[in-house]
Amino acid sequence: MTISAASVQPAASHYVNGKYVDDPDGTPMQSLCSVTGMVIAELNAASASLIDECVVAARQAQESWAALTGTERGRILRKAADLIRERNRELSILETRDTGKPLQETLCADALSGADCLEYFGGIAATVGGETVQQGESFFYTRREPLGVCVGIGAWNYPFQIACWKAAPALACGNAMIFKPSEVTPLSALKLAEIFKEAGLPDGVFNVLQGAAATGSTLVKHPGVAKVSITGSVATGKKVATGAAETLKPVTLELGGKSPLIVFADADMDQAVAGAMLGNFYSSGQVCSNGTRVFVQRAVLEEFLQKLQPRCAAILLGNPLDEKTQMGPLVSAPQRDKVLAYIEIGKKEGARLVCGGDRAVVAGCEQGNFIQPTVFADVTDDMTIAREEIFGPVMSVLTFDTVEEVIERANNTEFGLAAGVFTSDLTTAHGVIAKLKAGTCWINTYNITPVEMPFGGMKHSGMGRENSQHAIEHYSQIKSVYVEMGKLESPY
Ligand code: NDP
Repeated sequence: MTISAASVQPAASHYVNGKYVDDPDGTPMQSLCSVTGMVIAELNAASASLIDECVVAARQAQESWAALTGTERGRILRKAADLIRERNRELSILETRDTGKPLQETLCADALSGADCLEYFGGIAATVGGETVQQGESFFYTRREPLGVCVGIGAWNYPFQIACWKAAPALACGNAMIFKPSEVTPLSALKLAEIFKEAGLPDGVFNVLQGAAATGSTLVKHPGVAKVSITGSVATGKKVATGAAETLKPVTLELGGKSPLIVFADADMDQAVAGAMLGNFYSSGQVCSNGTRVFVQRAVLEEFLQKLQPRCAAILLGNPLDEKTQMGPLVSAPQRDKVLAYIEIGKKEGARLVCGGDRAVVAGCEQGNFIQPTVFADVTDDMTIAREEIFGPVMSVLTFDTVEEVIERANNTEFGLAAGVFTSDLTTAHGVIAKLKAGTCWINTYNITPVEMPFGGMKHSGMGRENSQHAIEHYSQIKSVYVEMGKLESPY
């Protein structure tokens, strides 16, 4: 498939109260194709007055949405899931153009993951409720109530999926949502709004506002907003938590990581290599939970590298719209330059380059932000590439000797998003996982995130959990009601 010069210009920049709207007062912004650098959409950021208007509409819509039964709400979410699956190819092509991720990936991991999430929360919407506890003849019961208007703020690496991961539990609980995509990837959330409308979602329950950090910040501080859920960097997460504290809003923070992926000498080495590649090169390495610190036990280090190097060198870079392409460009020129700068730091600080280490030029996509899949060995804990999140196709291989040592070094980071262990010994696997300070862990695989499994980070990687029944706790609040069945006991 060739890269079409055709614009994917949406009808307007924002989706408010069931309609596409533009904001004449909004600052102009553009969406660029990650492969060609061409402008594919001209938009405007939401001004303060449009934000106010959207919050008012969402608040009004939320009350009648919450008054529906969970079964009624769930039916609409499940219908939206069906529509996403029907339109998967169209949504995947749009996501590929906006992000540069290969169609091979977007076809199976982005919109479809969003559909699974809507189906799951559509399925459990009717079960969201409280409990009854007897106290002698009397009793109390709890009601699980929605919070009101929730704001979702997305990163650029999984724009459609992130919108679904936030909207599905929020809407299942009877909240309304205003979603602000990353300014780098603004398009697919508007498609989600269209799909919700077609599925029968009442106007105003799901809204999309475009803009950069200032728009996000205004939404976070807005007194009409009840909750914020953001996927982004640690620095942004801290600003959001601070901004939300002014009005004591609860926050869900899905932030960055520098996760350990530990390969013990008894591991199936082909599986460990496959896991390390999956956990470093998928989406050109732009995945928050990637296992970018690969700790390999000394006895198998050279075997691991010998198996890894040719497989990395064989990764097929190309036009991301070609379904054979395994790795596309990075999302933007600034992100490419940031990653290249880290590669240079790795070389200067003395890491051994095993593979890649430079820009890649792809015929027919000369303007694309491609970087070769890069592997450094002999990386030590103090090196910059072992400490900071790079968010690109750069794997750092470190060596260890003992179990105690690797646990201590794996935990020696401010991040705590994810971790992986490759071993054939179950005692080692579960024992090590129990001691790792990471919110989402895998044994003999990596980066598998079914909607039924909670996902989120510890330490500076965030707070709260997305997906699974636990997400319901973050989009609802408990009201306790005590019912006296006997005579009121009172000293007065
Ligand atoms: P950023 O933190 O730069 O931005 C995330 C979102 O927050 C964007 O929509 C951004 O707007 C917005 N934003 C920025 N500043 C503020 C602010 N002060 N108040 C409110 N909103 C704000 O992250 P990236 O988009 O660069 O995404 C990459 C990061 O996301 C990586 O650190 C990655 O690890 C993390 N991530 C975490 C995931 C997780 O689930 N834990 C999953 C995916 C990514 P804009 O960009 O439009 O200016």
